[in-house]
Amino acid sequence: MSLAERAIEEFGTRDVHEMARRAGVRIVFERWPLVSVGECETGLIRVNQTALERASEDAGWFSREGLERLIIAHELGHLLAAKWVEGEDHSEALVHDFVRELLDLPFAPTECERLWKR
Ligand SMILES: [Zn+2]
Repeated sequence: MSLAERAIEEFGTRDVHEMARRAGVRIVFERWPLVSVGECETGLIRVNQTALERASEDAGWFSREGLERLIIAHELGHLLAAKWVEGEDHSEALVHDFVRELLDLPFAPTECERLWKR
């Protein structure tokens, strides 16, 4: 079972906000230089407000709401991998797979990084 499948089964939702709530993870919005778009520690996800302000569309994946969803999904992936996946291999690739599957992304999650690294 993939990480996304397990998360959907465990929390009964694909909605990232709801999943975070049910997983006992708080989401806060802060502003810092765009070295990262989000960060996480046990029980907490930080979303970089600066990244959301770069939203390039009114709707869709790269809207403010879409980016917020992508960032939260990515950080949730890290937190759930740390909790459920044995060993040290909590790689970005694993998290990208989680995001792609959870959100049913029509593109590689790495596409987003290009936006943020502008
Ligand atoms: Zn990451």
